[in-house]
Amino acid sequence: MILAIASGKGGTGKTTVAVNLARVLDRPLQLLDCDVEEPNDHLFLPGETISEEIVTIPVPEVDESLCDGCGECGRFCAYHAIVSCGAKPLVFADMCHGCGGCMLVCPKQALREIPKRIGVIEKRKSGDIALLTGRLDVGQAMAPPLIRAVKERLAPSLPAILDAPPGTSCPVIVTMRGADFILLVTEPTPFGLHDLSLTVDMVRELHIPFGVLVNRVGSGDDRVHVFCRQKGIPILLEIPDDRRIAEAYSRGKLIVEALPEYRNLFIKLAEKLLADQSCKGG
Ligand code: SF4
Ligand code: SF4
Repeated sequence: MILAIASGKGGTGKTTVAVNLARVLDRPLQLLDCDVEEPNDHLFLPGETISEEIVTIPVPEVDESLCDGCGECGRFCAYHAIVSCGAKPLVFADMCHGCGGCMLVCPKQALREIPKRIGVIEKRKSGDIALLTGRLDVGQAMAPPLIRAVKERLAPSLPAILDAPPGTSCPVIVTMRGADFILLVTEPTPFGLHDLSLTVDMVRELHIPFGVLVNRVGSGDDRVHVFCRQKGIPILLEIPDDRRIAEAYSRGKLIVEALPEYRNLFIKLAEKLLADQSCKGG
């Protein structure tokens, strides 16, 4: 069972939900922090770092003695990362996605792959939780290849929670693909509703069942609830607007440990999503 936790906007409490769900499930589980530009699951899950692995992508390098300037590589590259205007091509490595396509289409075999570092994957053990954290290097823009590398290390025999980046762009889609269920975390505000509605459209395109968790209930209005009711989207959990939760978060504490009265809520949700595997969403 692979559960992805996502939110259209940052700051809705997605990380809080991911780490608390992971902690209450009383069995070995994997937590993959795919928010590679700003991973912070590890701040709430103390433990030993077991390994750190460098992740690279293959970018092309031109052998000028073989290249005849035909331009096939530049015409192929959808990302404009290699450009040839009747001369030897220029490679813009920071824009390259490492797909390898230009090397395949080059008729002169004038391109070879060189590895370019984009980030690291840290593996940590925190109790029963195997935490995999993808961390993009400062200045790197290629989150999707690093997220894919994190997901490639997922062990299929164990349940997994994927903490997705915020937003509705490529890194989120790469995280969600292959998930069995998506939990969308939102808040009852106009901004929350706007971004939830964009995320719902995206998730429906992916044909993955999903449900909603409304955080900070009582802080805004009922438009998110009305939206979910009208669209037939199940609200699986509501967390009240409780100042003590924000205080626990700011101290790097888990809600289920700092405020035990919330533990049962998370246990029920975790059992429903990760153990029962029969949850049918929107
Ligand atoms: S496709 Fe190959 S031969 Fe043609 S411009 Fe690119 S590197 Fe040179
Ligand atoms: S490897 Fe892919 S993304 Fe990179 S320059 Fe070649 S075609 Fe473009």
